[in-house]
Amino acid sequence: MSQSSVLIRNAYVLTMDRERHIFRDGAVYTEGKSIRYVGPTDALDIREADVVIDGRGKLVMPGLIDTHVHLAQALIRGCADDVALVDWLKDYVWVLQGNFTAEDGRVSAELCMAEMIRTGTTAFIECMIHSRYGFDGIAEAVERAGMRAALSKIIMDSTGYADNPDIMYPGMVEDADECLRETNEMHRKWHGAAGERIQVWYGLRSLGAVSDDLFREVINLADEKDTRMTMHLGEVVDDVRFVRERGFANLTDFARSMGLLRPNMVLAHGIHFEDREIPILAEHGCHVAHCPASNLKLASGFAKVPLMLRHGVSVSIGCDGGPSNNTYDMMREMRLAALVHKAAVNDPLVVTAEQAIEMATLGGAAAMGLQGQVGALVEGMLADFIVVDMKQIGLMPNSNPVSNLVYAGCGHYVETVVVDGQVLMHEGRLLTIDEESVMTRAQERSRELLERSGVEIRPKWPVS
Ligand SMILES: [Zn+2]
Repeated sequence: MSQSSVLIRNAYVLTMDRERHIFRDGAVYTEGKSIRYVGPTDALDIREADVVIDGRGKLVMPGLIDTHVHLAQALIRGCADDVALVDWLKDYVWVLQGNFTAEDGRVSAELCMAEMIRTGTTAFIECMIHSRYGFDGIAEAVERAGMRAALSKIIMDSTGYADNPDIMYPGMVEDADECLRETNEMHRKWHGAAGERIQVWYGLRSLGAVSDDLFREVINLADEKDTRMTMHLGEVVDDVRFVRERGFANLTDFARSMGLLRPNMVLAHGIHFEDREIPILAEHGCHVAHCPASNLKLASGFAKVPLMLRHGVSVSIGCDGGPSNNTYDMMREMRLAALVHKAAVNDPLVVTAEQAIEMATLGGAAAMGLQGQVGALVEGMLADFIVVDMKQIGLMPNSNPVSNLVYAGCGHYVETVVVDGQVLMHEGRLLTIDEESVMTRAQERSRELLERSGVEIRPKWPVS
């Protein structure tokens, strides 16, 4: 896959630049890691490159950025459907993940990335890597797959979840000293690795699992190392009960007192904020990863995304995990993000197709701390982009490509994916991951994991 230049001519190009320019007959030319040209095809003299793509009938746009991913959950896709969130964690997800081996962790990461690349995601934030998943194996898999990633090691020092004390499955429990030691070691080893494609972050688990002292220690460490943090906040009402029991008015009151509202923090879900808390999120410059499919499936509620956007909160989109979504397809996630709030607030004007694309590109770049480097097609920026085949029966007539992309599209219409100037998928063929082998190994490992953990998938209908 080693090539130094990529050229696409005659494509419909969504630049996502400051003015949101669209070129109806546009060209993109990249050299090495950088974008060298974005503009009308007829103004570009270059006709040759290592990879030349005929852009007719195709749309080129910045790669999608998934800001809340559990890589380890790809292997347990479909293992916990139609159950309540705490049971979903306690009886299925934690039990399965708490029986992972490092090889399971690596295969799950490969499976997840194969799906992400195939469906147009170029960069992602993995929010919680348990030491049993094998951080090194996952980082090596990211390096080989060619994606851009923030890998967050789990940080915890208690076995609770929101206001439910001591409910975590023993295999998921980690000790504070161990968490910090491993994160710091992985940071030293992997942060900035793979030509700066890999970042190492702190993944504060959730309320109830991290003590006040540990929150404060990690904030200092992240600042010291000039890296970032992510955590689940306000995914469940139990989080609100938890902070109220401790005498705080609401989630932001608590988060602010801990120093958690800061520009290097990505808050996942962020559902249970009151209206009056939304401007506070904007004021502190923290980021929210909105996960609509997961929130619908687990009946967690509706994040106040229209209000967040109105107040200028930095919102991005996350697919969450295999048992909560159950896909890692950001196109489908954009569609949900654009649909669900219309009904939730009874207003068809909120969260437009354009805003959904902004969240999935520019919002993701901001959350990753890569604003101005990825998330738009601008000369000098990193060459992370995707080519979508718009000549599909489900996208005809293609009179409004932006609408089609969000409301009628799906990730499987993506045919070429480029990260850092390297082609990871070319015309539907994955070049950095052996898809057949990943599918075989994932099937095998999933069967063994279910046996080992004693979790049974019982079909609701008779199977003979
Ligand atoms: Zn999550």
